[in-house]
Amino acid sequence: MDTSYVDNVLDNVLPELTTYIRRVLEDDRYSHLRKIPIIVSCELVVVRREQLESDTGTSDPKQVPAARAAIDALQKALGGGGDEVSCRICLEQIEQDMRVACMPCNHVYHLDCIVRWLETSHLCPLCRFALPTC
Ligand SMILES: [Zn+2]
Ligand SMILES: [Zn+2]
Repeated sequence: MDTSYVDNVLDNVLPELTTYIRRVLEDDRYSHLRKIPIIVSCELVVVRREQLESDTGTSDPKQVPAARAAIDALQKALGGGGDEVSCRICLEQIEQDMRVACMPCNHVYHLDCIVRWLETSHLCPLCRFALPTC
């Protein structure tokens, strides 16, 4: 475990705490009060954020672009073969005569949408089918 955070807390928070306590103890306004020893306990709760980090980290396989050759090799066609299909990337309907691309997994998207998508992620947005990467 990375202990720099713990060191940071010890270096910054504890002196602040003891300074505050000393200020109270030395303050004349409180001088009539009986002073008792105090025990300060410091508990550090570390919440694991691995899941969060893996969603945004660059090591995530989602963020690996597809190989250019794999993008170029996609089956391209004109959309609107009669079926009501929408592109799951932009959620717009695929109109007749729009250029579409069919992934090897048979998912169809607007050509522009899937190319832009594959330039950042090599996984099919719907089923995570993996295209080859560089
Ligand atoms: Zn689209
Ligand atoms: Zn797919």
